[in-house]
Amino acid sequence: MNNPTVAGIVANVHDVTDRRQAMKELEAATATSESIIESANALIMAGNVKGELTIFNKTFEDLTGHKKADILGKPFMFLMPEEEREKHIATFMNAYNDIHVKDYEITILTSNGERKTTLFNSALIHDADMNPVVVGIGYDITERREVEKALHESEEELSAVLANVTDAVFRFTEGHLTWCNGKINGMLGYDKDEIVGVDVDIFMPSDVSLAELYEVVDTGLKKEGFFQGATKVRRKDGSVIIVEYSASPVPGKEPLELVGVARDITERLRMEEELRRSEEHFRALIENSMDAIAIIDADGTIRYESPSVERILGYKPEELVGRNALEFIHTDDMHKISGAFTDSVKNPGRVITTEVKFLHKDGSWRILEGLGNNLLDNPKVNGIVANYRDITERKRMEQQLQLAGRLAAIGELAAGVAHELNNPLAAVQAYAELLSGRDDIDETARSDVETIYSQAQRASRITGNLLSFARQYKPQKQLVSINQVIEKSLELHEYRMRVNNIDVVTELAPDLPSAMADFQLMQQVFVNLITNAEQAMTGSNGGGRLVIKTQIINEMIEVTFSDDGPGVPDDTIKSVFDPFFTTKDVGKGTGLGLSICYGIVKEHGGNIYVVNSVGEGATFVVELPVASEVISTSL
Ligand code: ADP
Repeated sequence: MNNPTVAGIVANVHDVTDRRQAMKELEAATATSESIIESANALIMAGNVKGELTIFNKTFEDLTGHKKADILGKPFMFLMPEEEREKHIATFMNAYNDIHVKDYEITILTSNGERKTTLFNSALIHDADMNPVVVGIGYDITERREVEKALHESEEELSAVLANVTDAVFRFTEGHLTWCNGKINGMLGYDKDEIVGVDVDIFMPSDVSLAELYEVVDTGLKKEGFFQGATKVRRKDGSVIIVEYSASPVPGKEPLELVGVARDITERLRMEEELRRSEEHFRALIENSMDAIAIIDADGTIRYESPSVERILGYKPEELVGRNALEFIHTDDMHKISGAFTDSVKNPGRVITTEVKFLHKDGSWRILEGLGNNLLDNPKVNGIVANYRDITERKRMEQQLQLAGRLAAIGELAAGVAHELNNPLAAVQAYAELLSGRDDIDETARSDVETIYSQAQRASRITGNLLSFARQYKPQKQLVSINQVIEKSLELHEYRMRVNNIDVVTELAPDLPSAMADFQLMQQVFVNLITNAEQAMTGSNGGGRLVIKTQIINEMIEVTFSDDGPGVPDDTIKSVFDPFFTTKDVGKGTGLGLSICYGIVKEHGGNIYVVNSVGEGATFVVELPVASEVISTSL
C-alpha cells in the first residue's frame, strides 16, 4: 500500500479504546484522509469485495468526466472496456488476496467513450468497519504512451530507412563499430555480427595508418564538428576498395561515439580516372596536332581554340576566345566566308572547305585552308568545328613555281629573239652612225638618222636586258657583304634621291653574315628595287621615304625595301615579276626589271616577293642564304 494516510486509518482503528474519543479522532482522520485523497494528483479508487467502487477521487473525475455521485457503488469494471474486464477481475482478485499488484496498466473509459491509459499499483486495506478494500492508486500515462508509441514508430521508420539506404550507416566508438546497417555486408562482404564490436583492424589494410586516420577525424571534429574523407578498406575476400565516409559525434555520448555513412567509390574513381585519361588522350591529340582546331558558335563567336593557333596566327587561345571570327577575315574574303558560314549554320552535318585570308597578330595576312563541320546539333560540341592550317608559304611557293615556269619559257624565247635581233640592230646602228657622218645629207635627214641611231641603241639595250633576264651571263660568286652592296647601290642614287625629295633610311644589321653572291648582279637587283621605289613615290607623292633594312630571319639574310608610295594594287601583285609587265608609260618601263631581279635572286638560291598594303606603300623582300663558309665558321 503506497498511501501512508490510508494505512494510518487502519492502524488507528485498532489502537483506540475510548469509543467517543476514537469516533472523534476517526472522523477527524477520515476528513483529513478524504481531503488528501481528493486533492491528490494521483488517480485513487477503491473497490469492496463485490468490486463496487467505494472511493473515486477528484483527479479521477477530471480524467474520466464521470461524477463521483454517479459512479460510487457501481462495479469498477464499469470504468473498463469489455475486452479487458476479465483480466482485471482476475487481477482484482489477486489484490483482494493481498497479492500486491504493481505497475499494472488499465484502460479507463471516459464518460464520452475515450480511452485513457493508466498505470496502477494496488493494495489491500481495511476500512473503518474492518472490511477489506482494494485500493488502487494510479497515473494517467496516455500521453506518455502516445509519445512512446510515436517514438517507437519513428524508430521503426528510421531503421527501415537505414536498412534501405544505399550507403552503409554505422556507429563507431573506441576502435570498433557499435552498430551498422545491412549495407555493410554488400560493401565489405562481412555480416553485421562479424564486424560489430570487433576491432577495425579486421577490415583496415595494413598500409593504412590508423593514427593518421584518427588525426583526420580529430581535426575535422575540432574544426567543423564533423569529418569526412576516403580510405582504403579490405573486404572479407581480401580485395581492397576505396570508401568515402563522413561522420559526426552522437550528442551526449561519453566516450565519444560517431555516427556516419560510408560508400564504396572504387568504381566511380576508376571511371573518373578512365574518363580523365581518355580526355587527356584526346586533348593531347588536339593540342599537338599541326592543324589548329576551333569551335565557333552559330553567331561566329569563337568558343575554343587549340594551342596550335599561337604557332599559326600568333594569338594565344584566350586572346581569340569570345571574339567573332569574322573580325579577322580580310575584306576580300568576307563575302565568300559569310556565305559559306551561313550555309554551314543552316545545314547540320555539312562539311565546308574554304580558303581565307586571316589577320595574323603581327598584322600580316595569312592564307588559311580550313574545313568547317557543323556540329551545332551535337550536344557534346554545340558548335561549328573548324580545322585549319596555314598555307601562306605553300601558296607563295606555288605562285613562285608557276612564275618560274612562265619565266623559264619566256626567258628561252626572249634569249632567242634577243640573239636574232642583236646582229640586225648592230647593223642598223653601224649604218646609221655611218650615214649621220656623211656630208651629203641635209640637216633634217641627219636628225632622222640620229633618231634611228638612238632608237636602235635603245633597242639593243632592251635585247641586252632580255639576255641578262635569260641568264646568259654566268655569275661570279664570292663572299659578299650585302650591307656593302646596298651602300654602293645607294651611292649611285644619292643625287637623284635628293632632287626627288626621297628620304632614305637604312637599318642595316651590323653583324650581318656574308652571302655567297655576285656583287654586280646583287647591285643590279638592289638598284632596280630602289629605282622602282623612287619612281613609285615620286610618281604619286612627289617624294617619300624609303626604309632599307637587313636582318637575319630563319638563318637567311633578309633585305627589305619599304617605300611609302601607292603600293602594288592587289590585282597586279601576282604579275609584277612577269617579264614585260609594266604599269609605266610607254618608253619609261620595259617590265623587265623585276623579272631580272627574280632570275638573279633565284640563281643565288634565294627568294624575292612583295608584301603589300595598298595605300601604305610596297615592301619588296629579298631573302638570300648565308654563305655556308660563314655558317661553318660560326658554328
Ligand atoms: P618596270 O619598272 O619597267 O615597269 P618592273 O618589272 O621593274 O618593270 O616593275 C613592274 C611593275 O611593278 C611596275 O611597272 C610597277 O607597276 C610595279 N612596281 C614595281 N615596284 C613598285 C613599287 N615600289 N611600288 C609600286 N609598284 C611597283
